[in-house]
Amino acid sequence: MENKYDYLVIGSGPAGYVSAIRAAQLGLKVGVVEKDAGMFGGVCLNEGCIPAKSLYHSAGVLDVVRKSPELCGLDVRCGDVDMARLVEKSRAAAEELRKGLSFLFRKNGIDLINGTARFVDRETVRITGEGSGPFSVKAEKFLIATGSTPRPLPGVPFDGRHVITSSHAIRLEKAPDEMLIVGGGAIGTEFASFFNIIGTKVTLVEVEDSILPGEDRELAGRLQSVLKRRGITVLTSSRVKDVSSGPDGAEVTIEGSRGETRAKFGAVLVSIGRTPATSGIDPEKAGVKTDDSGYIPVDAKMRTNVENIYAAGDVLRTPMLAHVAYAEGELAAEAAAGGDTGPIDYGCVPNVVYTEVQVASVGMTEEEARSKNIDFAAGKQFFRANGRAVVNLETEGFIKVIADRNSRTLLGAHIIGYEASELIHEFALAKKAGLSVEDIAKTIHAHPTFSETAVDACKAVFGKAIHG
Ligand SMILES: Cc1cc2nc3c(=O)[nH]c(=O)nc-3n(C[C@H](O)[C@H](O)[C@H](O)COP(=O)(O)OP(=O)(O)OC[C@H]3O[C@@H](n4cnc5c(N)ncnc54)[C@H](O)[C@@H]3O)c2cc1C
Repeated sequence: MENKYDYLVIGSGPAGYVSAIRAAQLGLKVGVVEKDAGMFGGVCLNEGCIPAKSLYHSAGVLDVVRKSPELCGLDVRCGDVDMARLVEKSRAAAEELRKGLSFLFRKNGIDLINGTARFVDRETVRITGEGSGPFSVKAEKFLIATGSTPRPLPGVPFDGRHVITSSHAIRLEKAPDEMLIVGGGAIGTEFASFFNIIGTKVTLVEVEDSILPGEDRELAGRLQSVLKRRGITVLTSSRVKDVSSGPDGAEVTIEGSRGETRAKFGAVLVSIGRTPATSGIDPEKAGVKTDDSGYIPVDAKMRTNVENIYAAGDVLRTPMLAHVAYAEGELAAEAAAGGDTGPIDYGCVPNVVYTEVQVASVGMTEEEARSKNIDFAAGKQFFRANGRAVVNLETEGFIKVIADRNSRTLLGAHIIGYEASELIHEFALAKKAGLSVEDIAKTIHAHPTFSETAVDACKAVFGKAIHG
C-alpha cells in the first residue's frame, strides 16, 4: 500500500467509488479510505437503495401473488411473511454487489484502505482503525465523499429496538404488529408501503399538509389516497410530540389539527431527513469550509474552497440521491485529472419513490411553474386507458407533463403508476435535449406498452390525446 496518492477518496459510497474508478481510468494513482468494512459501497449498497428495493420487490411479488386468481387463474393461499427470509435475500443482493465492486477496484488498481480518515492538513490525512495503528497518507488531491447519517427527533435518540432508523428497519428479523413512521418523504412512504403489504399496521405522520413535500401536489395527493385505501393511517399536518420507550414498544404522543393522541407502537421508524457526515473528518484542519448545517459548498467542478480538495454526494447541498452522487463523483474525478468537464444539470435529475404504486418525476412541477410566472400548459393521461395497463391489471395512476405554452418545450414530467421509475427516463432525456412535447408525441411508441401513455400525455398538452 502506498502512502502517497494522486487522488485519495474518503468514503466508498456511490460518490466515492465512482469517482475512484473514473480517476483510475484517467491514469491517476487512487486510494479509497472506508471506515467500516461492512459498509464498503456506502449507504446505497448496504443500507439504502439496494437492500430496501430488494424488500420492496419482495413485497411487490407478494402483491402479485395475492392477485393471482385474477391474473393467472391460480388460487394461491398466502401464509405469513417470513421477514427474516426477505432480509436474507436483501443481504445476499448487497453482498453480491459488494463482491462486484471489489473486482472493479482490483481491475482498476485502486487501493482500499480500511480505517477512519481525518485531515491533518490540506495534503495529509491520519487514518485510524481497529487492528492497525494510526498512520498518515498524503495525496495531491482529495475527494470528501463521507455521505450522511439519519437525523433523530429532537431529544429522542435511536435505540435500535423501538426507536429505529432505516438502517435498522432493513434488518428487522420480525416485522412489528404496529409501526409508526415519522416523516412522509421518499424513505418514510416507501417503508410505509412495504410494511403495510407484509401485514404491519402502519401509521405515517407528516408535519406538512401532504406526504412527499416537493413533489407535484396532485401526484402526492394521489399517492396519499392510494396508501390510505390500502389501510395505512396517514396523519398530515401532524407532529410527534414525545416518545417514551418501554420494554415492549414505544408510547408516542402525536399532535395534529384535531388535538393530541397517544398510542403505542412496536417500532417507531424516524425518517425525517439526513445530516451530512462532515464533522468526523476535521475539515477545518485542511481549511475546508462547511455551512451552518455541515454541508460543503463546492463550485461547478465539485471543488471546495481549498483548491486540491473536492467533495461529492450527500455531503453537498444537492439532492441526496445515489445517481446524483455518481454524477458528482465522476465529475470531480474528471476535474481532478485536469479535464474540462461541464456542470451538472440538476434540473434533469429524475426523482423516484419506490412505493407499491411508484412515483417518478423530473423537472418543474405545476406549482413551481406558476410561482415563476411561466406561461405553461399541462397535459395528463391516465393509465386506465392504456391497453398494457388493462392487461396487466395495473391501471392505477397517470402521467402529467408540463410544457412551455408557446415553444412547447418540455419543462417537467410527473408519473404515478406501475414502473414509473422506468418510464421517467424518456422524459429526463427529452428535457436534457431540450425537446418539445411534440417531439415525444411524434415518436412512435411500441404497442401495447405502458410507455404509450407518455405519447397521449404529451398530446393532451394541446388537447389532442387520442385515448383521453
Ligand atoms: C433507506 C434508504 C433508501 C435509499 N434509496 C435510494 C434510492 O432508491 N435511490 C437513490 O438514488 N438514493 C437512495 N438513497 C440515498 C442514497 O443511499 C445516498 O444518496 C447515497 O448513498 C449517497 O452516497 P455518498 O457516496 O454520498 O455517501 P454514502 O453512501 O453515505 O457513503 C459514505 C461512506 O463514507 C464512509 N465514511 C464516512 N466517514 C468516513 C471517514 N471519516 N473515513 C472513512 N470513511 C468514512 C461511510 O462509512 C460510508 O460507507 C437511499 C437512502 C436510504 C437511507
